[in-house]
Amino acid sequence: MLRFDIITLFPKVFNGIFNESMIKRAKEKKKVLIKIHDLRDYSSDKKRHSVDDRPFGGGPGMVLSPQPLFDAVKKIKGRKKAKVIYVTPSGVPFSQSHAKRLTKHKNLIIICGHYEGIDERVREHIVDEEFSIGDYVLTGGEIPAMVMVDAITRLIPGVLGKDESLVNESFEADLLEGPQYTRPADFHGLKVPPVLLSGHHQQIAQWRRAQAVQHTQKIRPDLAGKWRQHRGQ
Ligand code: SAM
Repeated sequence: MLRFDIITLFPKVFNGIFNESMIKRAKEKKKVLIKIHDLRDYSSDKKRHSVDDRPFGGGPGMVLSPQPLFDAVKKIKGRKKAKVIYVTPSGVPFSQSHAKRLTKHKNLIIICGHYEGIDERVREHIVDEEFSIGDYVLTGGEIPAMVMVDAITRLIPGVLGKDESLVNESFEADLLEGPQYTRPADFHGLKVPPVLLSGHHQQIAQWRRAQAVQHTQKIRPDLAGKWRQHRGQ
């Protein structure tokens, strides 16, 4: 079982996403355990539960203070080994290969930043890896944490049913997925490519691969480059 501990200022926002669909089923199957921790509970300021302060050297906004984050991680870790992740726009771009690698861990602690971010000493001394979910700035780390938990959980063996195969998904072998169609074969004159109705499995597989390659070259030439390297082309 993979245990996620998420440290946040907004614990309630996780309720919907973690109690529906695939993540709900993964929890029921005991493939994952998800604990949400309110950072304010770890503040040494028992009256105001303050967790942030003004940045040294001036500048706008507030920065999350080291004390509640150091104490939260120490308490949550206890004696167990855990990888501590901070989600931040200045982290490494999170990808499917990171998600796959992280399924191998037993304990992941994710720190969600807010305001202007977190005190650098937390990053230097307790964070093991930093991930960004894209080149834009969000208000807080909660959505990035949800993204990571979802991407990692669905790759844990046994989480997806056999109808939800991972084999042809985007990013497998550095290719984006090609087009998908379902019934009806003719929707108000919009027809499904005939090869998909042919029942010829080999031709269908070839067509799908060609579509995936074409789509990847058009939309993500950077991935198409990687794909050619794999294939020695
Ligand atoms: N001042 C920070 C900067 O320029 O990098 C941005 C802080 S942002 C408003 C507040 C928090 O949202 C961050 O500490 C981080 O946890 C989270 N966050 C925002 N955008 C993110 C992204 N693209 N990927 C991961 N986390 C992000």
